[in-house]
Amino acid sequence: MSDIIRIAIQKSGRLSEDSLRLLKECGIRFDNGAGKLKTTATNFPAEILFLRDDDIPGYVEDGVAHLGIVGQNVSEETDRDVDTIYNLGFSKCRLSIGIPRATGYQGIQDLQDKKIATSYPRILSKYLKSNGVNAEIHEISGSVEIAPGIGLADAICDIVSSGSTLLSNGLKEVEVVMRSEAVMIAYKQMTEGQRAILNQLIFRIDSVQAAKN
Ligand code: ATP
Ligand code: ZN
Repeated sequence: MSDIIRIAIQKSGRLSEDSLRLLKECGIRFDNGAGKLKTTATNFPAEILFLRDDDIPGYVEDGVAHLGIVGQNVSEETDRDVDTIYNLGFSKCRLSIGIPRATGYQGIQDLQDKKIATSYPRILSKYLKSNGVNAEIHEISGSVEIAPGIGLADAICDIVSSGSTLLSNGLKEVEVVMRSEAVMIAYKQMTEGQRAILNQLIFRIDSVQAAKN
């Protein structure tokens, strides 16, 4: 029985380059010609799938892919039944709440009964609940930072790395909701053969990571 594992990575975005680099540093050779959705490694029993990051946890839950590389933010928000098996250390960012720069802020209670725009309703609602804050969550899928400026919300909850996007939209960061980095997630019901391949891969990732430290 010739087992193979399918590894899902982001097609194009902030995770793509480092995900590709990691696989290549693990010595896995494959052709990732532009526009490809799937490719087969030439020297390792793996196929690589190129997907939108938001779709990766669902594919891994269903076993369409056996492994996936996503941000912890996306993994937590999608809340799929997968194992998180490796913290990869790249694509570090945080999910934060921002409000207009001119608005005063004493603490999280100031968000009580406010309207907050976000693409992360699940994570935000958990966070507010655990802080005893009742707010209205407005789910929007992109350009969250402009919401306060156009009167759509009092605050936003979005991914921040340097803070420059917040700044250029007249916002300031007032709460860090979660910190995130890229992780490898895994299908829960792999065959023995697939687990053996996964162990080989993990062994290689360990060596790559050790060389960096
Ligand atoms: P897709 O088209 O695949 O849905 P996307 O627009 O949702 O892509 P990206 O902006 O490419 O997503 O971000 C992918 C992931 O990279 C985020 O979910 C987050 O974990 C991380 N990330 C986002 N912004 C940054 C940043 N500025 N610096 C570092 N990591 C980031
Ligand atoms: Zn996405």
